[in-house]
Amino acid sequence: MNNIKISANFFLREFECKDGEHQVRIDSRLLQKLQALRDKVGRPVIILSGYRNPSYNRKVGGSPGSRHLLGKAADIVVPGYSVEELARISREIGFTGIGLYNSFVHVDVREKEATWKKT
Ligand SMILES: [Zn+2]
Repeated sequence: MNNIKISANFFLREFECKDGEHQVRIDSRLLQKLQALRDKVGRPVIILSGYRNPSYNRKVGGSPGSRHLLGKAADIVVPGYSVEELARISREIGFTGIGLYNSFVHVDVREKEATWKKT
């Protein structure tokens, strides 16, 4: 299911909600920037969380206005890159929302730029 290539290096299934539902939302700008990031680092970009449906977002304590609900956000890691390095490159690529967490970086395509850090 969703074993569909949607860019040079990403499959639709990678963006599925982690509760197992196969219906996915994904903003084309998010995908385009993730592919640009993948091209820049030359390594796999692992999506820990892409789309979240409303029930799953509540379950994981996501904010009611989370961009994950809109298919506009992804929590990512790249092997060999620290969250600080990954956040810096993500800003260069043009992601507008960037959150630094202990073990991953949240990136999204919101209207106004925002950066935050949670430990
Ligand atoms: Zn996130």
